[in-house]
Amino acid sequence: MIKLQNIQKVYRTSTVETLALNSINLDVAKGEFLSIMGPSGCGKSTLLNIMGLLDNPSGGTINIADQTIDKFSDKQLAQFRNSKLGFIFQSYHLINDLQVLDNVELPLLYRDSTAKERKALASEALEKVGLSNRMKHFPTQLSGGQRQRVAIARAIVGNPSIILADEPTGNLDSAMGNEVMDILINLNRNEGTTIVMVTHDENMAHKTHRLVRLFDGSQVQ
Ligand code: ADP
Ligand code: ADP
Repeated sequence: MIKLQNIQKVYRTSTVETLALNSINLDVAKGEFLSIMGPSGCGKSTLLNIMGLLDNPSGGTINIADQTIDKFSDKQLAQFRNSKLGFIFQSYHLINDLQVLDNVELPLLYRDSTAKERKALASEALEKVGLSNRMKHFPTQLSGGQRQRVAIARAIVGNPSIILADEPTGNLDSAMGNEVMDILINLNRNEGTTIVMVTHDENMAHKTHRLVRLFDGSQVQ
């Protein structure tokens, strides 16, 4: 589903050069739930951003859902990202002055769909994360775990084949973290969604199919 070959990432400024990723080769199978761990600064977010086509590698090739990405125009990239990928972040990234339902509808605004269809899809996504009773709330009126479940609903509303999650339980206590993790596990099992998750939590990582460890920009396991 995702194939990275010899991926390098160098961050250059006028004074420093950082080799953030060094020759990463990684295959993520369709339907796999993969976690990525490693110390702060080892390149986890960089790797996830490259998989999510949010950032370009300095070298190497990326193949996602049978498409080689390097020939894509910016517009094609945006379209591909919007139709195939869903993103979840540690700090939720919800828009606080939009109601929950409107937050979840956001990714659909870039597609051909009517307001009625958007509402139906967003309601369905909120049902899947157990938040049908919070559609008219604002994010600030919800707990951290509920906010992350809204973010998951927003990530899945367009029915992506891949979810990329950057420390989705990082801001949550263990009870709420487990709830969020259970939703991701069910999504992977029931819908076959491929998931790549960065985490600092060994317990969460051990619930996934496979763990990749990074150290200083290189894969060590
Ligand atoms: P359990 O831990 O409950 O025994 P498994 O780890 O065996 O579950 O996997 C549960 C399901 O996930 C299986 O049906 C299997 O097909 C799928 N699965 C497990 N590992 C992978 C993988 N690396 N890639 C894709 N699917 C996988
Ligand atoms: P992690 O997610 O594992 O904490 P990152 O992928 O954020 O690591 O960062 C990997 C390395 O790249 C770090 O050494 C970091 O300082 C560097 N880095 C990340 N983003 C930038 C940037 N925009 N400019 C320069 N260096 C960066």
